[in-house]
Amino acid sequence: MNEVKTPKKPMMFYYGIFLAVIILFNAIVMPLLNNMRVKEVDYGTFIRMTTELNIDEVEIQDNQIVFSDKNGNYYKTGLMDDPALTQRLYTAGAKFSTEIVQEMSPILSILLSWILPMALMVGLGQLVMKKFTDKAGGGNSMMFNMGKSNAKIYVKSSSGIKFSDVAGEDEAKENLTEVVDYLHNPDKYKAIGASMPKGILLVGPPGTGKTMLAKAVAGEANVPFFSISGSEFVEMFVGMGASKVRDLFKQAKEKAPCIVFIDEIDAIGKKRDNHIGGNDEREQTLNQLLTEMDGFEGNTGVIILAATNRPESLDPALTRPGRFDRRVPVELPDLKGREEILKVHARKICVGPNVDFSAVARMASGASGAELANIVNEAALRAVRRGSRAAMQADFEESIEVVIAGYQKKNSLLTDKEKMIVAYHEIGHALVAAMQTNSAPVQKITIVPRTSGALGYTMQVDEGNHYLMSKEEIENKIATYTGGRAAEQLAVGSVSTGAANDIEQATRLARAMITRYGMSDEFGMVALETVTNQYLGGDASLACSAETQTEIDRQVVALIKKQYDKAMTILTENKQKLDRLAQYLYEKETITGEEFMNILNS
Ligand code: ADP
Ligand code: ZN
Repeated sequence: MNEVKTPKKPMMFYYGIFLAVIILFNAIVMPLLNNMRVKEVDYGTFIRMTTELNIDEVEIQDNQIVFSDKNGNYYKTGLMDDPALTQRLYTAGAKFSTEIVQEMSPILSILLSWILPMALMVGLGQLVMKKFTDKAGGGNSMMFNMGKSNAKIYVKSSSGIKFSDVAGEDEAKENLTEVVDYLHNPDKYKAIGASMPKGILLVGPPGTGKTMLAKAVAGEANVPFFSISGSEFVEMFVGMGASKVRDLFKQAKEKAPCIVFIDEIDAIGKKRDNHIGGNDEREQTLNQLLTEMDGFEGNTGVIILAATNRPESLDPALTRPGRFDRRVPVELPDLKGREEILKVHARKICVGPNVDFSAVARMASGASGAELANIVNEAALRAVRRGSRAAMQADFEESIEVVIAGYQKKNSLLTDKEKMIVAYHEIGHALVAAMQTNSAPVQKITIVPRTSGALGYTMQVDEGNHYLMSKEEIENKIATYTGGRAAEQLAVGSVSTGAANDIEQATRLARAMITRYGMSDEFGMVALETVTNQYLGGDASLACSAETQTEIDRQVVALIKKQYDKAMTILTENKQKLDRLAQYLYEKETITGEEFMNILNS
């Protein structure tokens, strides 16, 4: 991974080159030079030159004699057992020297004895530092100090994520392509006087690829990527949020053009209202963020991306024009998007020939990108467990259930009677769904208990994307939810706790029909509820008088009662089929939609 903050790397590189040059020079060039200057001769020549009085300087070393002639040429020869040598040289007028030939130039010796060790030390230090910070930063991020505040900013490598790695989300990508283009050639925009939005808010449920998209923008534009989580401003460094923001922006401006990504911005950007006392630390941080965003010009090349799944909780000051003025929705993927995401992640694993991604995508309706990535990985893990070389269709189907409902419980704790009740319950759902023309057929029914606590479930498959649901469809859905309880009642004459989740879902739908979808005769198109948490489960809060609330409750009860009765009628009319199917499921524990339909139509 290529770190964005790179100056350390070139430094190391130069040290390396420097060392290499010195060593090369020392090992090859210097001896060559010395050899060229000092000529080796035999002892006879030395004696002859001595008698010819042609010796200028001489040095008798441990294993050789080095000498020069009157013309300044240097020679060397081996040592001989020659006791009279010194006397002869003296009479020949030779000067005795101790450093006749400098083996090395003085500069080089200084280099070797001083600079080299120093360079080595610094280089080593750098290496150790780098190792250390790499560890502290978790592998691919680097922590570095930020001046006085001592706050840490994580600079992550953009790790080469490109738009092509983010599947689906075409609208978001299209929106962000403009930012990439701007970072590539800002002049085009400046020329016409247009300025990029300073801040772009990515809004959507968790795990839909917001972080990925931000990284992909940095990756596509090939600019540094600063990443920090909103909660880090407040939680980790109490009292330092504001100065951290200041430092972050200082850094960013130095590194411009660059991308600053603030994850979970709602952690600092919450509305500054109504709580007495408030959170001073958080407010200061937010104020600093606002100030900084106002402080720099639109065209400095710093683009701030922020992600949140609670856009409605953000302070209006943050979302006004000039700050985070562009909002890019990153929604849960649709059928096509799911298929693409599965394919993108399946590139990393070995996939068997029978895998039908479109079928898998259809089954995993409502799954986020992160869940789909998880499904692919679970399928690969399951293939390994089976001892297979590749993940097959069955692995994918099982992994969807694992991700949705948890692992199979190995030692079933159900008694026979309980198992029978669960079988009736699930067949009840499926049968009611199948008998209502508008309901989607079932894909699979199972009564194998899961670690999540589900004792069994019916997997319904919708054939495509539903953007709209008619009133009848919602009613049928509610009837399907009540079908489980109705079947229990019909089969064993009493009811169990198994329907708790169904009751919740049915009530939620019925309430929404009346308070939000305007599907009640009495209230018509009046909004009686507002959704507060669109991307996190969609909690709603009532906005009506107490009397109206009572009336809503009454209508919800009536609506569900009506659908329960409808389900009951369907099941009573098909009691024989219900019994046969439940018996079959009881024996097989898992049946496919096909088997179900075969028995139903036989
Ligand atoms: P968010 O920031 O929206 O919570 P992330 O960007 O962190 O979600 O996504 C988490 C993981 O889910 C990613 O690492 C990726 O593996 C997977 N993922 C989510 N959306 C997509 C997508 N559209 N395409 C491919 N992978 C995705
Ligand atoms: Zn149920």
